Amino acid sequence: MSDLNTLTLAQARDALRKGETTSVALTEACLAAIEGAGALNAFVHKTPEIALERAQAADVRLQSGDAPKMCGLPIGIKDLFCTKGVPSQAASHILEGFKPEYESTVSQQLADAGAVMLGKLNMDEFAMGSSNETSCYGNAVNPWRRGNDDAALTPGGSSGGSAAAVAADLCLAATGTDTGGSIRQPAAFVGITGIKPTYGRCSRWGIVAFASSLDQAGPMTKDVRDAAIMLEAMCGHDPKDSTSAELAVPDFEAMLTGDIRGKVIGIPREYRMDGMPEEIEALWQQGTEMLRAAGAEIRDISLPHTKYALPTYYVIAPAEASSNLARYDGVRYGHRAKLAQGDGITEMYEKTRAEGFGHEVQRRVMVGTYVLSAGFYDAYYNRARKVRTLIKKDFEDVFAAGVDAILTPATPSAAFGLGEMTDADPVQMYLNDVFTVTVNLAGLPGVSVPAGLDKQGLPLGLQLIGRPWEEGDLLNTAYALEQAAGFVAKPAKWW
Ligand code: GLN
Repeated sequence: MSDLNTLTLAQARDALRKGETTSVALTEACLAAIEGAGALNAFVHKTPEIALERAQAADVRLQSGDAPKMCGLPIGIKDLFCTKGVPSQAASHILEGFKPEYESTVSQQLADAGAVMLGKLNMDEFAMGSSNETSCYGNAVNPWRRGNDDAALTPGGSSGGSAAAVAADLCLAATGTDTGGSIRQPAAFVGITGIKPTYGRCSRWGIVAFASSLDQAGPMTKDVRDAAIMLEAMCGHDPKDSTSAELAVPDFEAMLTGDIRGKVIGIPREYRMDGMPEEIEALWQQGTEMLRAAGAEIRDISLPHTKYALPTYYVIAPAEASSNLARYDGVRYGHRAKLAQGDGITEMYEKTRAEGFGHEVQRRVMVGTYVLSAGFYDAYYNRARKVRTLIKKDFEDVFAAGVDAILTPATPSAAFGLGEMTDADPVQMYLNDVFTVTVNLAGLPGVSVPAGLDKQGLPLGLQLIGRPWEEGDLLNTAYALEQAAGFVAKPAKWW
């Protein structure tokens, strides 16, 4: 078989089981693709020795007929996941040299399911950003380009390395995390599938914390079937994370029938934003028609508090981040600043944090500290929490009225140019998350499915938002949309 790295998880799994290829061959194909794709800056720590060792072990298991579900499938892991003995820096200078003594639950579960880790993937520093430009390793690059223009585009963020790697076939799939859109927005920018499951589906243990009440891990894959396969391996109850749910994990792949007849799909009027590009509006309309044609009932709905979601998110997420990031003090992990004669512990904290954190992280820590301060706690943080409850209730109301899933655009634009936003007001960058943050605030599952190309030939995604814990049903609706949209485009290789 040729081009093994271009296979989906399902194709590779089936080929392995039929003895048509080996995990070592798949892994070597991915490692070679990674070596040839330095220009994408997607992998920031490569682990070829670990990969080949696990691939060999997987081949033995496959031969003995005792192969778990993801046995032998090579994947990438976002740098936010702690991986034992392997650098895990959350793309921050402050974690330089940090090699965890433990493995995150999600990456452990993937390893237990037989998946082969190829290395760690680029991301925005501490997962704060929408363009991968806040990474201490420099940004990853989108494999897609606008027509014949060779300007480098962002793969989105924060899981930009994961997105670029999957779209460029450097790995069969990758993990991502999503606090406000970091799986769905980059997936949309590179034409792949990404699902953020219900809050509590995946254990957060061993994933570097950004905003603990919003963070969730999820798969970034070449198609919906792969998302189902990988999500099943990633989720499940973990006693080490008190917010992880004690619920059985269904066989998500078995739920992909493509039959959505009678399902009620809500179209929220508040997601029709002023100034939204016509192409996005048109795509949304087409997606609606596709679901209708597949037998779903389309219903106009209202989520009245949507306009408060972005400001609410940008109070709650920095508040939690400022608290979570207080642990990086130069004492326990990673980087410690060189101190001058007479410096005490306060200077050590200050200098270490000033050197170790990038600008965006510092901005979030300052905003977070401010909204949590005694004088402003009620005015900002508590108020944001109340609005969050209203946003959640908007969704509860429409689900209670019989809506099964909600269709929206995934992003307000296609991938933008690297550097295009650097001089802009940071709020411009935050606007990228306008369609995704509501889902994190409400703790719901959301999936981004590639559904078309814009005039410049760049991928555009649609988002489906589901009822809590009903990822299987949501993935099935996504599967029906995927079948109807028939998105098969791939970026032309220039790297
Ligand atoms: N772009 C959003 C932010 O900067 C979301 C990030 C994420 O989901 N990790 O906060």
